[in-house]
This record gives sequence, C-alpha cells and structure tokens, in this order.
Amino acid sequence: MNPPKYTAQCHCGAVRYEVTADPVDAKYCHCRECQALHGAPFQWAAIFEKPDVKFVKGAEALRFYHAPSRTMTGAATKVLPSKVSCRYCNTPIADEGRRMWLAFPELFDFQGRIPKAFRPSCHIFYDLRVVDLDDDLPKWSGHKGSSVLVG
Ligand SMILES: [Zn+2]
Ligand SMILES: [Zn+2]
Repeated sequence: MNPPKYTAQCHCGAVRYEVTADPVDAKYCHCRECQALHGAPFQWAAIFEKPDVKFVKGAEALRFYHAPSRTMTGAATKVLPSKVSCRYCNTPIADEGRRMWLAFPELFDFQGRIPKAFRPSCHIFYDLRVVDLDDDLPKWSGHKGSSVLVG
C-alpha cells in the first residue's frame, strides 16, 4: 500500500479518509442535481480510482443517497452511483461510482496551496449554470468530451 498523500475529513470529524495518489482529473459540475444536493451554484470534484481511497475513521457513519431512485441507505444496501455524506453533520463527502470516487476537495487538508492536480480541467453541464464564470477553462454543455463546447 502506498503512503497517504492527502487526508480529508467531514465537518464534525466523524469521517476521515486518505488518498494515496493524485486525482486523475478534476472538474466543476453545473448540473441541477449538484446544485440541489450541494446547496451551491456548482460542484467541484476531484476524481480518484477507488483503490487509491482508504478510510481511516467513520466508514460506519456514511450515508448513501442514490439520486435516480431518491433513496437513502447505509453502506450495506448502497446502490451505486451514490452521493456519500456524513450521517452526523451532513457534510457531502463524495460521489461514489462503480470504479471512481469523486471527492470534494473542500474536505482536504492541503496545508497551503491547492495542488495542481486538484485544479479543474473544465466545466461540465455549463448550459445549466446559475452563475457565469470568467476563466480560461473549457466549458462543456453536458459531459466532458461528449457534448458541445459552449465557452
Ligand atoms: Zn461529520
Ligand atoms: Zn453535477
């Protein structure tokens, strides 16, 4: 097992996990689901391979929300993909897919500047944005690579 590279934790501290590699990509998502479930204009996610994610504490404190069926479960009955959150403080932890872990970088303790690998490569679902962003990143109408560039 590789040594931990970065550590993340929820607001109340019940949940803590480590990643042993840099993210393979990072993005801002402007879809309606991210807006609603984060209470934010858009979501920032850093994408990891699941074998690089290791729970240190609080795996039993996780809740899993399967958005398509609007169902909340515990770990034993989770359906992927799911939104993962802390059952005590409600902090959104990650989006768990079948192969990937989409971490929310706000939870990481970077001890200084945000590492380059966490910087978003693009905006996705930019057509659904509630705020215009003036940056140089590619802006996709839907998914990266399979929709239209709109900025
Ligand atoms: Zn918590
Ligand atoms: Zn989204």
